[in-house]
Amino acid sequence: MRGLMQDRPLLLSSIAEFAERSHGDVEIVSRRVEGDVHRHTYREAFARSRRLANALDALALKPGETVASLAWNGYRHFELYFGVSGSARVLHTVNPRLTIEHVQWILNHAQDRALFFDLTFLPIVQKLHQACPAIGVYVALCSEADLPQGSGIPNLMSYETLIGAHSDRYDWPQFDEHAASSLCYTSGTTGKPKGVLYSHRSSVLHAYAVSLPDSLNLSARDTILPVVPMFHVNAWGLAYAAPAMGSKLVLPGQSLDGASLCKLIEDEGVTLAAGVPTVWQGLLDHADAGRIRFRTFRRTVIGGASCSRAMYDGFTGRHGVEVLHAWGMTETSPLGTASAPRRAPADMTADERASVALSQGRAPFGVELRIVDESGAELPRDGLAAGELQIRGAWVLSAYFGADQPEALTTDGWFATGDIATIDGDGFMRITDRAKDVIKSGGEWISSAELENIALAHPGVLRAACIGVKHARWDERPIVLVMTRPDASVTREALLALYTDRVAKWQVPDDIVFVDDLPLGATGKLLKHTLREAWRDHLLAATQ
Ligand code: ADP
Repeated sequence: MRGLMQDRPLLLSSIAEFAERSHGDVEIVSRRVEGDVHRHTYREAFARSRRLANALDALALKPGETVASLAWNGYRHFELYFGVSGSARVLHTVNPRLTIEHVQWILNHAQDRALFFDLTFLPIVQKLHQACPAIGVYVALCSEADLPQGSGIPNLMSYETLIGAHSDRYDWPQFDEHAASSLCYTSGTTGKPKGVLYSHRSSVLHAYAVSLPDSLNLSARDTILPVVPMFHVNAWGLAYAAPAMGSKLVLPGQSLDGASLCKLIEDEGVTLAAGVPTVWQGLLDHADAGRIRFRTFRRTVIGGASCSRAMYDGFTGRHGVEVLHAWGMTETSPLGTASAPRRAPADMTADERASVALSQGRAPFGVELRIVDESGAELPRDGLAAGELQIRGAWVLSAYFGADQPEALTTDGWFATGDIATIDGDGFMRITDRAKDVIKSGGEWISSAELENIALAHPGVLRAACIGVKHARWDERPIVLVMTRPDASVTREALLALYTDRVAKWQVPDDIVFVDDLPLGATGKLLKHTLREAWRDHLLAATQ
C-alpha cells in the first residue's frame, strides 16, 4: 500500500554496515591464542569479514549452508560472525568443552560444510575429521607462519591466507530476514544436544532488546568484555549488540582466570563485563586478594546460573560494581529477563535492592513469561506460587533444528523451559529450581537453589550443590555437597546452623558432606545428575 513504511529486512549485515559507517574507529581488542593482545577497529574487522564472504563464494559454499567454528572469543571469530551470516550462510558455533563424541555428533547433525578453528583445538579436529564426511573445508584461525605442518587434516588452510587472497569489495546480499543466521546446540546435560537455529530477524531484535536501559543498558560509551563464550548463545548476543551500539569490544581469548581478566579490565577501561558465576568467583577472589580498586568497571552481568548473595555483596559492597542478574537459555537467544529495578535505588532499602538484584529479573518488551502448574493451568503472579516457567516471543525458538527432535512448544505456542519459578506482582521472576533438580520430600517441593545459596553465604564455602537423594520415609531428602576454600575452616555443624533460622525445619538438609571437587559441565554449570547418581544411596546407607 502506498504510504507504508520502508520494508528494510533486519539483517545482521546491516549491523556491520552501521558500525562501520558510524563507529568505524571503535576498537576490538583481543587477547590471542598466540599470547599477545591484538587491536583493530570495526572498520578493519568488517573489511576482513567481506574478504571472508568473497572467499566463501570462491569455495562455492551455498546460501543456507552451515559453517562451523571451534573458537575462543577473538577478533577472527568476530569476523566470522558477520562474514558467514552476512553472506547468507549459517554460522554454527560449536562448544569445544563438550565431549569429543558430542562435538562430532553435532558437526554431523548440522551437516557442516566447513570448519574454522583456533589452533588450541587442533587435537580435537585431528581426532574427528575422518568421521565428519560433510566437511570439505578446514581453516585454522591463524597466519600462514603459524599453520601446523603435517597435521593430517586434508587441505588445511590458514585464515589469513584464505581471506588475504580476496578483495574487501563485496555488497552484502539482501534477503528475507527470516533466513537462518546462526546455530547453537544446548550442552545436552541430559540426552543428545539439541540445535537452536537463530534467524537474522530474531538476532537483530535480540540485539536491540539486550541493549535497552532496563536490560544491559549498552551505549557507545561502554567498553564491553564478553567473558561468556562466543560459542555459547552468541556471547549472549553481545557480539551483535556491541557493534549495533558502537561499544568498544574486548575479547578475552582463552585466559579466563581472575588475574588475566582483572588486567584486561583495567588495561582496556572495561565498563561492563558478562559471564557465569564460576568465572566471576575467580575474578572476585583475585580482586579481593589484591585489594584492587577498579578504575572504570561499573556493571557486571551474571547469568547462566544463579548469582548468590555472597557474590552480590562482594561486587556491590567491596568493589562498587553493580550486579545485573540475567536469565536465559540457548532456546531464548538467550535474554529472557534482567534484574534492573523498577524504582530508583534511593527509594529502596539495601535489602530490597539486593532482593531485586538477586531475582532473575523482568522480561523486556518482546518476550512474555507465565508460570503453570502440572496440569498446565496458569498460576498467580504473587511471588509465592511456583510452577514451570514458560516463555514466548520474537527471539524464542519455534522448534529444535532437525526433523528428529521432540516438539519444543506447548499446544498454545509457549516454550516450556524446564525451570521452576515464581513471578511477583512487579513482574520479577525468581527461579527456584530446574524441574529435574527440584527435591520432592514427602510430596512437598524443596528448592535446591535456595539451600545452595544459604551454604554459599558462609565465607569458607567455594561451591555448593544441593541434591535430592533417596530416603526411606520421605522419598527424597536434600543433602548439600560442599567444596570449601583452601585453608578455610568450616564445620558441618556451623553450616547446618545457618539453615535453622532461614528455612522451615523440614527443609533443613539431612546432611552436609565435604567433597574435594564438584564437577562442572561444558557451560560452567554443576553436573547435578552425575552427583545424584553418585550420592543416591547416601542416606539409605546411613540409616542401615
Ligand atoms: P544448558 O545448560 O541446558 O545448555 P543453557 O546454557 O541454555 O542450557 O542454560 C539454560 C538454563 O540455565 C536455564 O534453563 C536455567 O536453568 C539456567 N539459568 C540461566 N540463567 C540463570 C540464572 N540467572 N539463574 C538461575 N539459573 C539460570
